[in-house]
Amino acid sequence: MEPLIAKIIYMAGYWVANFVIRIPHIKAHGRLPIRANHNTRADTSVFLAVGLGGFLVPLFYVFTPLLSFADHSLPLWIGATGTVLLLLGDWVFWKSHKDLAGNWSPTLQIRRHHTLVTNGIYRRVRHPMYLSLWLLVVAQAMILPNYVAGFSGLLPFGILYFLRVGNEEKMMAEYFGAEYEQYMKRTGRLFPKF
Ligand code: SAH
Repeated sequence: MEPLIAKIIYMAGYWVANFVIRIPHIKAHGRLPIRANHNTRADTSVFLAVGLGGFLVPLFYVFTPLLSFADHSLPLWIGATGTVLLLLGDWVFWKSHKDLAGNWSPTLQIRRHHTLVTNGIYRRVRHPMYLSLWLLVVAQAMILPNYVAGFSGLLPFGILYFLRVGNEEKMMAEYFGAEYEQYMKRTGRLFPKF
């Protein structure tokens, strides 16, 4: 795939997820009261690294020649598969925000009127939003023909996911008790359980 086309596709997919889909939720999030905050310093640091690796590093790659030492070429089929994953990632990102609605938060928090969502995209999978982020960071590596800008999202997000997912489930089980434990039994973390 032409590097220019690859850059346009990635930046458009990223922009849709983080600006069109997420910004309204960030605004709503600021207005909803919080009952408990389970955030940790490690989580916040890696969360910032995900933003840096998913957006700022690619931005440098697109608009400056600083990362050209790490350029490589990717066969068209890899770029095309990455584009499909990017579109799918955007859709799952949108759907999980829609279904989670006022219960969403960027870090580990419980709202004053938190409800356990077990329907829609949450029916069979417990972490569809994290699944969508996996899709987006894998797509980044498949679309951008640069070792630094391609992989700068995958590494921090991988760390964030493994750092957070167990703590999140523990927090949810603490607040929702047997209801969440039952929910865990019938769902998979990222892929449906059959
Ligand atoms: N891990 C989920 C949600 C990510 S947003 C996903 O990947 O789709 C993180 C916040 O969502 C957590 O702070 C938690 O309060 C909330 N949350 C996670 N699962 C939830 C559920 N099933 N119902 C309601 N809130 C949930």
